[in-house]
Amino acid sequence: MVARAARATDLADLDGAVSNCFACPRLVSWREEVARTKRAAFREQHYWGRPVPGFGPSDARIGILGLAPAAHGGNRTGRIFTGDRSGDVLFAALHRAGLANQPTSVAADDGLTLRDTRIFAAVRCAPPDNKPTPVERDTCAPWLHREVGLIRPTLRVVVALGAFAWAAWWPVLRDVYGVRPPSPRPVFGHGAHWSGTAAPELLGCYHVSQQNTFTGRLTPLMLDDVFARAKQLAGVD
Ligand code: SF4
Repeated sequence: MVARAARATDLADLDGAVSNCFACPRLVSWREEVARTKRAAFREQHYWGRPVPGFGPSDARIGILGLAPAAHGGNRTGRIFTGDRSGDVLFAALHRAGLANQPTSVAADDGLTLRDTRIFAAVRCAPPDNKPTPVERDTCAPWLHREVGLIRPTLRVVVALGAFAWAAWWPVLRDVYGVRPPSPRPVFGHGAHWSGTAAPELLGCYHVSQQNTFTGRLTPLMLDDVFARAKQLAGVD
């Protein structure tokens, strides 16, 4: 896994390689079963049913780090946060911030483009109950690390969506930037900010899950504040 990720010479190469990863038996089985059984509303659609690559330009200054693809979202459409309620909230906010050309994200060929922003997940396959195991998280980490390594020249800020993504960032510091992660680790929270030398700034943001957005724990205004801060830290107009 580490070797396959490390061999990727650019993002297109990496995206192709990760799409053919079968390293986690439980997740491979789950992603394929979901793709076979489908949800009634999508019965006529062909599910992607494979690992979901990152999305966004190779010279991104802002990274958005999520947990994993949704079973009937990215696992169906093949593009991260595309085709689910979380994506509806996220891309609407990115559009308001001027970081996406449109506020919706329904299919991989819907014309969506991002500006200065790349979105990726700590785990690339949809997990049951949105809960990867620690072994699955660690097995998938080389894909994230290589992706960050490839956009390292421009990457200035990473927005971690939720505590899982926040925790997944610290090994990136060590493996990609050669920076020792802070100890004790900074605690995740909405608006949390970690700043170190020789590595991107890290901003915490509640995950855009329905659990947070439907209950008002995460509001559009709170998302707007996070992306305004990310743009400012990244030097994006
Ligand atoms: S979760 Fe990551 S490492 Fe595991 S099978 Fe999917 S892409 Fe491969």
